[in-house]
Amino acid sequence: MLRQTFLASLLATAPVFAQRCDSVIPILPPKNVTVPPTNGTAGHNGTTFLISARQFTPEPDYPPTPAPPTIPLYVHVVAGSNARKDGYLTEQEVIDQVNIIHDLFKPRGISFRHDASMRQWVVNASWAGPDRDFNEMKEALHKGDYRTINLYIRNITIRDYGGSCSNPWTQEEIWNVPFPRRLLQDGCVINTETLAGSGHSFMNMGKTAVHEIGHWFGLFHTYEAGTVRDGVNPPNPCWAGNPGDEVKDTPRCKNVSPAGQCNMTQNTCPEPAGEKPVYDAVWNYMSESSDACYQNFTVGQQERMYFIYDKYRAGETRG
Ligand SMILES: [Zn+2]
Repeated sequence: MLRQTFLASLLATAPVFAQRCDSVIPILPPKNVTVPPTNGTAGHNGTTFLISARQFTPEPDYPPTPAPPTIPLYVHVVAGSNARKDGYLTEQEVIDQVNIIHDLFKPRGISFRHDASMRQWVVNASWAGPDRDFNEMKEALHKGDYRTINLYIRNITIRDYGGSCSNPWTQEEIWNVPFPRRLLQDGCVINTETLAGSGHSFMNMGKTAVHEIGHWFGLFHTYEAGTVRDGVNPPNPCWAGNPGDEVKDTPRCKNVSPAGQCNMTQNTCPEPAGEKPVYDAVWNYMSESSDACYQNFTVGQQERMYFIYDKYRAGETRG
């Protein structure tokens, strides 16, 4: 019931989709915190805000953690018919997408295993279409354990919709879904229109999959502090005490709309006059910019991915 209510509210408030991703942020019991006074242009002064417990986690130093072992990657092509216009991809298109994932995670020491036995084509007219509740599809098709990535390349007939992904704890915290169902609902969904060479104006190089798999590893958006959670506006996302995306080397920033912009000198949390500007990380895979703008993850994001994988995926494997 809670899930239905939440989804209904999400759909009711959703704007026209000019967004890459609607991965859901965990909602924990809110608590009152008092934001300390700050100087300069960033921050509120001594005001009490209602924010979630998770949101107030300070940006941590992640303990040194080895890289994850090679990760099995299953790909499910979900089409409305066996025609390409309804999302029925060629095998080469799948291989090309997997290679992009492989190439772009490689600099961060993360590797994947995928072969011909790990991809399948499914024609299902109700799964392919505008519906954004992916759980029935995921539960029917999921393969492997909690250390296995399931990538669903689905024909989602919503303009400018890129995809979504579960992070390691989302289902349990929001909807109280325990194992094994939580395992079956794990995985990332991308729209067929995000593949390399598509005609989309900013999601056309296959990098939406990289963004979504970043969520699978527990990364948040770089502008996470600017997102409304628990139905309340969080403290100023530029406030230094705001944990943001819980990664130290990604500058705090606000979301920009519409998605797909690539302004390298964008600075939504400007420094006080006279200080050197620290521009928003629009080049980061976890921003909302364009595929052409996307260049990398940071070292801090790498450390978080290793740590979260080890703690939540390797450490909680029950599948
Ligand atoms: Zn996202």
